[in-house]
Amino acid sequence: MTDWLLQCSACEKEFSGTDLVDVCNDCGQPVFARYRGEAPRREDLLQRADMWRYSPAMPLLPGELPVSLGEGGTPLFDASHLADEIGVGRLWIKDEAVNPTASFKARGLSGAVTRGKALGVPGFTVPTAGNAGAALAAYAAAARIPARIFAPASTPSPILDTIRALGADLVTVDGHIGDAGAKARAFAAESGWLDVSTFREPYRTEGNRTLGLELAEQLGWRLPDAIIYPTGGGEGIIAMDKVFSEMRDWGWLSPDATSRLVVAQAAGCAPLVQAFDAGEAKAKPWPNPTTHAAGLRVPAPFADRLVLAALRESNGAAVAVDEQVIRDATYRLASATGIDAAPEGGAGLAALEELVRRGELGRDSEVVLFNTGSGASYRTPQSVSA
Ligand SMILES: *Cc1c(COP(=O)(O)O)cnc(C)c1O
Repeated sequence: MTDWLLQCSACEKEFSGTDLVDVCNDCGQPVFARYRGEAPRREDLLQRADMWRYSPAMPLLPGELPVSLGEGGTPLFDASHLADEIGVGRLWIKDEAVNPTASFKARGLSGAVTRGKALGVPGFTVPTAGNAGAALAAYAAAARIPARIFAPASTPSPILDTIRALGADLVTVDGHIGDAGAKARAFAAESGWLDVSTFREPYRTEGNRTLGLELAEQLGWRLPDAIIYPTGGGEGIIAMDKVFSEMRDWGWLSPDATSRLVVAQAAGCAPLVQAFDAGEAKAKPWPNPTTHAAGLRVPAPFADRLVLAALRESNGAAVAVDEQVIRDATYRLASATGIDAAPEGGAGLAALEELVRRGELGRDSEVVLFNTGSGASYRTPQSVSA
């Protein structure tokens, strides 16, 4: 499958698949790739262990080689002891910590840098709460294209060190990812470098779709009852929602295969939970966002409408959890499974436990929880001794 066009998610304006497009130039909303022509076939998947196994379902031109560091192909662990303790029928943990630069961000940045390189961009820039910057630094280095990364000064220091070590130009910013985003956009406008912020170009989403392709294949081409995803900007949720629908269209999944999509946020920054509970179509910017789960510190998610629509259409849920609850759940997740859970993964476990308490999930539910990053990225000498 190599034929796609780009289409605005809001006004449906179309663009050529070989144009350099960021957001819709009419309405300013996110633009996505739409596949057309003959459906790709499961039989044509490549014999490789990383996410480019799904190349027939990815936006690659004939003969094009992806910029790859072995991202994806992450394990899905059957956490039966934890499932019993929590009170669900089955619990799998998809461990994204084992990606290059230790988070799922590798998938999206492999997708975006692959496309940016093919389109001849002179450089890349991104605002980040941490992991997206580390991933961009790695893929830009692999593509031999420069990168400038804008991160809050409060980003966990192991992640800032990784960004520097991979040769990117790091600019630290006072404030949160929203403040870094304004700087990155201004820099992109003056330099002509491509801003690969969440949903501000189409191809991170295409890479992130492999989360859903891989999960479906690992479960034998079916979906679990519920998927819990620690959410800031909403990449994981939106990309899985998109690819599940594509897989149903292509006959890779049965037409009635769906999962309840569940967003886990931190109580100190929960704009999507607030909007979901209030029945609103858009989220209000969250004042003074605070959480040690850095990936969840996104006070004004750009694609709020799309996340909220995906939650409602899937009969999903949105749950906010307190800082100490996140810390306890992170420890429990790691010590019960051997997976070096990130605080974001811990927030996901805490959200799952809350849904069991509410009676929304139980012994008859099959659940997949994403551990989106690695605990090691957040451990500093201070946090270890504390
Ligand atoms: C970025 C990130 C998230 C949140 O992802 P979004 O796409 O912003 O929703 C969750 N966990 C980790 C470890 C992350 O790096």
